[in-house]
Amino acid sequence: MLRFDNYVRPVNTAEALEVLRYRRGAKVVGGGMWMRLSSRTVPCVVDLSDCGLGSIAETDDAFEIGAMASLRDLETHRALNEATGGILERAVRDIVGSQFRELATVGGSVYGRFGFSDVLCALLALDADVVLTGAGRMPLARLCEQGYEKDILERVVVAKRDYRAAYACVRRSATDLPTLNVAAAYWNGDWHVAVGARPARARLLLGSELGLFGPEPSAAKLLNAARVLRGLTFSSNMWGSARYRRHLAGALGIRAVCEAAGMPVPEACAPALAPADEEVPA
Ligand SMILES: Cc1cc2nc3c(=O)[nH]c(=O)nc-3n(C[C@H](O)[C@H](O)[C@H](O)COP(=O)(O)OP(=O)(O)OC[C@H]3O[C@@H](n4cnc5c(N)ncnc54)[C@H](O)[C@@H]3O)c2cc1C
Repeated sequence: MLRFDNYVRPVNTAEALEVLRYRRGAKVVGGGMWMRLSSRTVPCVVDLSDCGLGSIAETDDAFEIGAMASLRDLETHRALNEATGGILERAVRDIVGSQFRELATVGGSVYGRFGFSDVLCALLALDADVVLTGAGRMPLARLCEQGYEKDILERVVVAKRDYRAAYACVRRSATDLPTLNVAAAYWNGDWHVAVGARPARARLLLGSELGLFGPEPSAAKLLNAARVLRGLTFSSNMWGSARYRRHLAGALGIRAVCEAAGMPVPEACAPALAPADEEVPA
């Protein structure tokens, strides 16, 4: 069972960071859905519910997603989803169930940087920054590369771009953790493809790394991109073998890019979509 010795509910993030840094063993709680899986006593828990981080606000050039906004908010925010090709709704809709998504937060998902995270994978393909109370503003991709500093994630800022985006994911069964997930987005004249659940943290590759140029890549370019995606590091766990994940990265990568581009998968890419017999999971 998870226990808290002390419960603190600051009214702003500066106060929350102060507690986090100077109270021994202090931990931030978002929705607590992940934290509650562990059995331990947390000396001091910092609840951000009164810090005004619970909504998604639209400005002229961005959507500002508060850290305490729920995954259900992300899923159902019409303007945000219309502006981002529906990628966020698609990424979160299979996470457990709607009651769960009402409680799990964007902040816990992003700060947690779980390797399997659908949320992180989808956001990475967009033009997204994070705002932290201590470290300030930085690209989400940079946060993904960092370790866990004591800090408060305040919000995720998704810039308004002319996104063409798609999300593809394989789960062994509905609502299970993903075996592999891929998000592809074309914006500012470049492709952005994130591959997560490798099972390590999602990695973002740009069009230049994938050899993908232009909004409607040719079959040859797609096959080359699939080869690059399969070259990422994969490993095995109970949700899939490294070999199966490697195959999925190529296949889902092609599917996601084609869907984002609004074109059918070219016939010549069919062999890359069909798993060889030995790649089918047991
Ligand atoms: C059973 C189960 C199944 C799941 N399946 C999926 C899935 O299929 N796909 C998927 O993408 N995700 C899945 N998740 C993860 C889920 O979507 C959330 O990402 C996760 O629960 C964390 O969100 P939370 O609000 O519960 O965070 P919490 O549990 O409250 O916190 C998680 C971590 O983040 C820290 N933290 C929280 N908020 C902040 C903040 N604002 N600033 C700094 N640190 C913070 C906490 O200290 C803690 O270390 C699953 C989780 C569970 C429990």
